[in-house]
Amino acid sequence: MPERPAEPEPRAAATDAAAGDKADAGSGGASPEGGAATVPSPPPAAAGTPAPEETVPEAAEVSEATGTVADGPLEPPVVETGIPLPPSEADAAGDDSPELPHAPEWSPPVAAEMPESRAEVAPEPSPPPHIQHRPALFVVHVTPELAPVAKVGGLADVVFGLGRELEIRGNHVEIILPKYDCMRYDQIWGLQRTFDDLWVPWYGGAIHCSVYFGFVHGRKCFFIEPHSQDNFFNRGAVYGFHDDIFRFAFFSRAAMEFLWKAGKNPDIIHCHDWQTALVPVYLYEIYQPMGMRHPRVCFTIHNFKHQGVTGAQVLHASGLDRPEYYFHYDRLRDNHNPHAINLMKGGIVYANFVTTVSPRYAMEAKDQGQGFGLEPTLHIHHMKYGGVVNGIDYDVWNPEIDPHIPVHFSVDTIEGKYADKKALRDRLLLADNEKPIVSFVGRLDPQKGIELIRHALFYTLGQGGQFVLLGSSPDGAINGYFWGLKRQFNDNPDCHLEIGYNEELAHLVYAGSDVMVVPSRFEPCGLTQLIAMRYGTIPVVREIGGLADTVIDKDFSHRPLHERNGYVFRDYDERGLESALGRAIACYYQYPDHFRELMKNAMRYDYSWNHPGQDYLNIYHYIRDK
Ligand code: ADP
Repeated sequence: MPERPAEPEPRAAATDAAAGDKADAGSGGASPEGGAATVPSPPPAAAGTPAPEETVPEAAEVSEATGTVADGPLEPPVVETGIPLPPSEADAAGDDSPELPHAPEWSPPVAAEMPESRAEVAPEPSPPPHIQHRPALFVVHVTPELAPVAKVGGLADVVFGLGRELEIRGNHVEIILPKYDCMRYDQIWGLQRTFDDLWVPWYGGAIHCSVYFGFVHGRKCFFIEPHSQDNFFNRGAVYGFHDDIFRFAFFSRAAMEFLWKAGKNPDIIHCHDWQTALVPVYLYEIYQPMGMRHPRVCFTIHNFKHQGVTGAQVLHASGLDRPEYYFHYDRLRDNHNPHAINLMKGGIVYANFVTTVSPRYAMEAKDQGQGFGLEPTLHIHHMKYGGVVNGIDYDVWNPEIDPHIPVHFSVDTIEGKYADKKALRDRLLLADNEKPIVSFVGRLDPQKGIELIRHALFYTLGQGGQFVLLGSSPDGAINGYFWGLKRQFNDNPDCHLEIGYNEELAHLVYAGSDVMVVPSRFEPCGLTQLIAMRYGTIPVVREIGGLADTVIDKDFSHRPLHERNGYVFRDYDERGLESALGRAIACYYQYPDHFRELMKNAMRYDYSWNHPGQDYLNIYHYIRDK
């Protein structure tokens, strides 16, 4: 293995940087408007959370007395606590809090440092808050997935959709991902090698990498290709290998090394899930001490279930050379296993802001046992933690222009949907009758509620409906189970199971169905109910996570009638499912006018990236300006 280029000794550098940060935070952290200084202070430990042995990094603080924060120029992003985000003047008090490795280090321009002519000019009056200028940002996403080239789940859609929205709003967005052999290369335009001399530190040496550039439907993407015997990304699949943690620890390090060597200085690095959770750790422990002091990090958790829990080896591999330092409870040490490190925990501790993909899931993860052991960490860092509901890409999911459906329709021409229902029946050889079509689209994963999906099939047929399933599982046993069901219903003209992944068929299923069931055990956000609503298909969902945030029950809600858009049940059992699915099928048969109104309500909702795009921009500006 070739020698790695010399690199400053991280331990000493990190200490210096921490000291520097503290000086910055203590001396100013003044607001860009020249208002009160803000000083990060340790958050109050939540009741029931283990007392931290050391103060952990924290990016934001609010007034304990009021639970509110001082005025700021920005619309606050949605946070699960319901607390607006800009920092409070109350934070300006006291400065002897221990230093935080990732505390924002913004320092205000000092008049003496300005050219004299500038310093003497009287400041222009600032515009009113609602038209305050917000500079365009340079945002880099570091991600293991990107739709449609490397898609495993909703994460891929989020990175593409959010990236596109940010660009539409005038920001500069670049995306860094591994160069997998299994990517959809037909969806990448102008792919070319742009950087051929990237040496990524690894196990005390370095691995030679090439970096390619290409456009993915207009998004600017860099693909990192390591040349080593590990063959990290030429495995025929994105995930599923014994060394996945090492593959993505390496990728995260490579992404940071690329930014450093290419001289890129983004305002924001946005990383996703455990795979890239080491990005803020590398930034604050290695690259900031080397001089990369500009970027702030937003870390989005798409699913708390997978956290990247591993041994010390990955620290040695990736250049985080002080195991005793990182094994501290306040840094990367797993909350349950003191001999393991937890990459997702590292991302939470070190990032400037942590989001998950719906406010409800943010609360469930922190307070209702859905954090898979990370609850205490979320409590400690609750002031920089919130939920933003994902959007869906309205260019891809749009019944008015969708190339995969034979008849286009809108809320005003909703009859077109029935032609698509007929097309779906023709395609799947279902009987043409008056029955409602109830569907499921998604991964056949225990998370998605396998038992209740199965029960929905039997119950629908029993209630006089048709049932369509489009799904697959990497788990042979689960796949085999559904293949068995498929054979069982092979001759049933009211049932079709399509086992596999078929993007194009999914469009027709969304368009041609009347009802979409999403009976998940837990659901961080869920895209299928959002897509279904876009196509006037009524969601029947369990009241959890993003499903609870986006579906309003037709019969049991305090919201106005025109805001109700589906059916919701609470308990994860057959009776629970029946209570909602039964009402949906009954409404379809007995009150078709009401059902049609419900369809229109669902279609009128805006689940595009418009709102979440603004929420993320608010977060970016907040962590930049703080
Ligand atoms: P998750 O990210 O947990 O898999 P989401 O509901 O957030 O679930 O996103 C799932 C996305 O993947 C949706 O866009 C859905 O249409 C798509 N999808 C899932 N399974 C299939 C399949 N078998 N065929 C086509 N599309 C699928």
